[in-house]
Formats: sequence, C-alpha cells, structure tokens
Amino acid sequence: MTLEERIQDVNRRIEQACRRSGRTPEEVKIVAVTKYVSPAMTAKVLDSGLEHIGENRWQNAQDKWEALGHRGTWHFIGHLQTNKVKDVIGKFEYIHSLDRLSLAKELEKQAAARGLQVKAFLQVNISGEDSKYGLPPEEAASFLQEIQNFSHIKVIGLMTMAPFEDEAEDTRFVFRGLRELRDELNRRGITQEPLTELSMGMSNDFEVAIEEGATWIRLGSILVGKEEGEG
Ligand SMILES: *Cc1c(COP(=O)(O)O)cnc(C)c1O
Repeated sequence: MTLEERIQDVNRRIEQACRRSGRTPEEVKIVAVTKYVSPAMTAKVLDSGLEHIGENRWQNAQDKWEALGHRGTWHFIGHLQTNKVKDVIGKFEYIHSLDRLSLAKELEKQAAARGLQVKAFLQVNISGEDSKYGLPPEEAASFLQEIQNFSHIKVIGLMTMAPFEDEAEDTRFVFRGLRELRDELNRRGITQEPLTELSMGMSNDFEVAIEEGATWIRLGSILVGKEEGEG
C-alpha cells in the first residue's frame, strides 16, 4: 500500500470506530509516528497533510527535526531522560511521557529559561505491567497537585500504553481505565482547568482506544510504515 492508501484506510477505520461509539472523527487527532522511517519519508508524511509528527528518542529524531522541524508540530512520545530535556525543549510542542517529578522539574526549568510553555500528558501505567513507564494511577492526583505551580508546563491530559495483545479487544480495560481516571481527576477538580486529552491507541489497538475516548492516537507501522535499516 502507498502512504495515501494507508491514510485513507486509517481514516476509514477511525470513522467507523467513531460511529460505533457516538463520536465524531474531528475529536480524534493522529500523531504520525516516524521513528521507523527516514527524513525523506517523514517529508512525504508532512506533504500528505499529516501535521503531527511523533518521535520516541532524540537520537532518532535529530536528523528529521533538523531537516523538517520548521514544518508540522512535533510530539515527543517516548521515555524522556532528564539529561535529554535540553535537546527536545522548544522543538517538541507536546511531551506525552511526563511520568516523574524529576522530569517535571527539569522541563519547568528549561522551559522557563526559554520563556515558553510545553504541553504535557501525564503518562500513567494503567495495565500495571512492570515493563511500562508511567505513574501508578493512584499517584496521579498528588503528582498533579505537586506540579500545579509549574507555570511552564501545561498538563492537558493523560497518556498510556497498552500491552501488545493479539486480540485488540483485550486492551479495552487499559483505555477505559485511563478515561475513568481522567474523569475522576476532573470531578475532584485536581487541576485548575479540566484535563481534556487522552493520548492512547497505537497501530494494533487504536480502534478500541477511540471507542474508549482517545483524542490523540499515535500511529507508526500501520500508517507511516517501516523502512529497512531504520529503527
Ligand atoms: C512506536 C510508538 C508508537 C507507534 O507504534 P506502532 O505500533 O508502530 O503504531 C506509539 N507510541 C509510542 C510511545 C511509541 O513508542
């Protein structure tokens, strides 16, 4: 399939998932994850009209950002080491992986030094898998309260990763859990403004994530594809 065909196919599946769950496709934004492909392919992704680009490591992203950073909106979606914050700040408008206080402190410091505000998702480990990054759900409220006065970080929502399952349906409890946590935090008025966003769903499970309320889905292999020799 060509990129155009993959985009059409994904859009059709997004529409169907929205129809099943009484949502509209405008509520679901795509982060095109380019970590498996070259700068040339990333340029094609931007040419195709996809505007949100996701990368999970600065080492992989650097070439692409240097060539194309003036286009599109860049999302940092992977685990972020504290000593890499200085590399990504100001380049990535969204950080999907805020998961600890030391990272929040460094983001606040670096964003303040540059006079900018970074949008962040609090990454939560709903599935409880040891291999997954993210705060335990029961720590989300106190964490958000702790960083309330970090005026250079705007937490707009929550992010999670589901375990890989052969049956996407088996991931539903993870996505439902993230939505319920967001709704509970909003009910309790933990943040000054309600958390509106849910970053959840990847190639294998995005339809289930949409049915459970995803507002950002992060799609790599199914949408952008993979190229040999890239990783
Ligand atoms: C790689 C990656 C994705 C996209 O993965 P696919 O399964 O290829 O869609 C999404 N989110 C994160 C955090 C990733 O690292």
